[in-house]
This record gives sequence, C-alpha cells and structure tokens, in this order.
Amino acid sequence: MTARMIDGVALSTQTKEALAPRIQTLKEQGITPGLAVVLVGEDPASSVYVRHKVAACEKLGIRSWLDRQPADITEKDLLDRVKVLNADPAVHGILVQLPLPNHIDAHRVIETISATKDVDGFHISNAGLLMTGKPLFRPCTPYGIMKMLESEGVNIRGAVACVVGASNIVGKPMAMLLLAQGATVTICNSKTKDLAAHTRMADILVVATGRPAMITANMVKPGAVVIDVGINRMPDGKLCGDVAFDDVKAVASAITPVPGGVGPMTIAMLMVNTVEAAERFNHS
Ligand code: NDP
Repeated sequence: MTARMIDGVALSTQTKEALAPRIQTLKEQGITPGLAVVLVGEDPASSVYVRHKVAACEKLGIRSWLDRQPADITEKDLLDRVKVLNADPAVHGILVQLPLPNHIDAHRVIETISATKDVDGFHISNAGLLMTGKPLFRPCTPYGIMKMLESEGVNIRGAVACVVGASNIVGKPMAMLLLAQGATVTICNSKTKDLAAHTRMADILVVATGRPAMITANMVKPGAVVIDVGINRMPDGKLCGDVAFDDVKAVASAITPVPGGVGPMTIAMLMVNTVEAAERFNHS
C-alpha cells in the first residue's frame, strides 16, 4: 500500500479563497478585518512563521500589523502593549508568537489578550469553551487538521484516535475536537508506557511531539490516517516531521507531508478565525 498524500497547500488555498466573499461583505459594511501579530525578539523560526502569517493577510485583504518588540522587553511593557491592542477597534484578532523569552510568563500574556480577539484560541476561556463543546475560537493547528480529515472524508464518529503529544496548543485541543466529533481518543505524552501499543490501535493518528521521525511503520495500524504536526529543522537545513514519512507511507492509507501538510492549514485557519472575529465584532 502507498498512502494517499493529504495536500495541505491545496486545501489551505481553497480555505483562504472561500473567505474572499466574507471579507468583501465586511468591507462593504465598512469593516476591514484586522490582525495584530506581536513578535518578541529575533527567533529565526518565529520570524518565518510571522512573515507567513502577515503575507497571508496581505494576500486576502486582511489588515495586519507586525508589532516587533525587543527580546528584553519587560513583561509589564508587553502586557501594556497587548492592552492597547485589546482597546483598538480596528484590531479584531491578536496573536503573540510563542515561544516568549524566559523572563516573560507566557500564560499571563495569553490571559491578557481579550478572549474575543484571541484568534489562536489559547486563552483559558477559549480552552474552557472548547472543552465544554461551545468553542468560540478553535486553536488553528487542530482546527486545520479537522478540516483536512473532513475534506478527506475520514469517518471520525466511532473511530479510534491517538494523539501523541499533549501540549495546550496542539495535543489537548486536538483531542477535544476529535472527541467532540465522536472519536474514542487516547492522548499520549513522554511518560506513556509502550507508546506503540497505543498508536497501533489508532484509525486516526496525530503526532505532535517535536521528535523527528519518532513514529515508524511498525507503530502504525495498516490503513490508518496519519497526521504529522511536527516541524523539525535538521542539521542539513531540511524540515522533517515527527513521522518517518517514507517508512509510514507504505502502511498508512493517507498521510500529511512535512512541509506542505499541517503547516499551511494552520495559517489558513488563523485567517478563518480572524474573519470570524471581525464578523462577531460587526454584529456586537
Ligand atoms: P511541546 O513541546 O509543547 O509538546 C510536546 C508534547 O509531546 C508534550 O506533551 C510531550 O510530553 C510529548 N512528547 C515528547 N516526546 C515524546 C515521546 N517520545 N513520546 C510521546 N510523547 C512525547 O510541543 P508543541 O505541541 O508545541 O509542538 C509539537 C511539534 O509540532 C513541534 O515540532 C512544533 O514545531 C510543531 N508544531 C507545528 C505546527 C504547525 O503548524 N505545523 C504548529 C504548532 C507546533 P510531556 O507532556 O510529557 O512533556
């Protein structure tokens, strides 16, 4: 068997194009959706992600502000900056690119973003709403993965799903979204004993650990759908996922590549969340 490739680039293009009429309608009503992206310091990977986000906004006619702050900004100054963005009616979405320097408490920063502008969906209110089945903003990466599964016609109801990785931004919300659609979900972490015993049961396997190529073919159920969230920069400069792609594609029925899989969908869903935020603002 050779797995079908799930094309995140094509689906992200479609997803973004579908936003055009909604953006147009908002503009006719005098509202241009606006996203403020706060970048603290010069981390190279963060700078690349932020550039892609701003470029996606520009292409769609969403107004964007790249708010660059020095690595030594104090926590108080950063919180004050977020409060200014909260109060700005032209800004419908705010994201603070993670990770932040060690002297800044990322949780405090996220909690300071207005929950109605939290287009990353990381605010504790948004995490709670997601958990109780009434999401306001779904975190972009898991939201994009749900769109991929939907577009591939993957049956989620009653499926066995395994999420490897339990971060607040990917693993946990991913599990919640799959559970909400009726999957039976196992969440694994670095302490999980006999990881392969869990992954091998999964019809849907989502991997988000940051451990290059850690999922090998013998850990995958034949015919499973495999979603690789990992982005690892290897010593040769190439990007590698958390799944041993060449190995696993011989076993899976469908698989996402890295790059060109989950990454582009994450940005597309950020655009979706920003447009939703502007629409809600318009109706409030
Ligand atoms: P975190 O480091 O926050 O979390 C990693 C999770 O993986 C933790 O729960 C950790 O367990 C678990 N883990 C680590 N090693 C193992 C192991 N050997 N077996 C099982 N579980 C393990 O990472 P993120 O969730 O932020 O990101 C994960 C990956 O996804 C990274 O490569 C990141 O770059 C990428 N990413 C990609 C995005 C995209 O758009 N494509 C978006 C966001 C992230 P424990 O809880 O025990 O520490």
